Amino acid sequence: MDYQTIAECSLAGNLLTTEQALGVLQAPAEDLFDLLGAAFRVRRATFGTRVQFHVLMNAKSGFCPEDCGYCSQSSMSTTEIDRYPLRSMDEMLQAARKAHRAGAHRFCLVISARGATTPEIERIVAAVEAIKAEVPIEVCCSLGLLTLEKAQQLKAAGVDRVNHNLNTSARYYPAICSTHSFADRVATVEAAQAARLATCSGVLAGMGETDHDLIEVASVLRGLAVDSVPVNFLHPVAGTPLADVKDLTPWRCLKILCLFRFMLPKTEIRVAGGREVNLRSLQPLALYPGNSLFIEGYLTTPGQAAADAIRMVQDLGFEVGDPVPMNAP
Ligand code: SF4
Repeated sequence: MDYQTIAECSLAGNLLTTEQALGVLQAPAEDLFDLLGAAFRVRRATFGTRVQFHVLMNAKSGFCPEDCGYCSQSSMSTTEIDRYPLRSMDEMLQAARKAHRAGAHRFCLVISARGATTPEIERIVAAVEAIKAEVPIEVCCSLGLLTLEKAQQLKAAGVDRVNHNLNTSARYYPAICSTHSFADRVATVEAAQAARLATCSGVLAGMGETDHDLIEVASVLRGLAVDSVPVNFLHPVAGTPLADVKDLTPWRCLKILCLFRFMLPKTEIRVAGGREVNLRSLQPLALYPGNSLFIEGYLTTPGQAAADAIRMVQDLGFEVGDPVPMNAP
């Protein structure tokens, strides 16, 4: 496979053929540097060597009525996790301050829910207004399914971006969740876009999907023109239905990241949840296709500390990029 031809196709704005996309996902190990070099060419054209950091806050944990098979907060999960209702406005403000001190460009407020209730939206709106008045950081909200009206409330409060992951293809979606549909998830992304919010929507690889499923969901995300795509890797957790699924290798994760870079050349590609346990010693290489990272942990699992992430970026000769200017609102 000629990966430089694929890079040129991507940079020209053309969609990869199915044969090219499969060639990326099925690249042999001896092609590692050729493939990463081609993906880096595409990444560098838009993002240079900058790496953005994002910090998550699990603002409401557990008790979710949905049955997403990968999730330790679902109604199906018996995983021992902290379960608590929505944090106070002050706790959300303090967490945003802490994220800013850690060097994060973006702070993402996440709740476990099918969708936020009206009182929850009201408290989150108040928290976002307080954060935007004080902390120079971009704010993202991940609140489950959203109506246009709720998306407009978030926009009015100053929310910059909404996250809602598609996770997998429409074909494979019923195998991982029965309480809502792929179409529900797409509708939430479209509601956020209709409210003129930036959108972040990604995937969770390693749940038993096929190569064609990954290509399909990348293609849908391209069609939706989302601003950011977190590429998550299944971290199988005891007590969840997918606890025994172990499909990923570090090399497979790199190929998936390269596919998303080629399919979405100008979109932020985040090396997201599960990167530490699945990429292991190859984590730094993920920053050749990817241009952003979560730091300081995930919703119910720990992750790489900010100082270690900064060292990893600097060891590559890359830069921690695009801090929000101090005079930002
Ligand atoms: S909707 Fe979100 S919090 Fe609820 S089970 Fe699914 S992934 Fe977990």
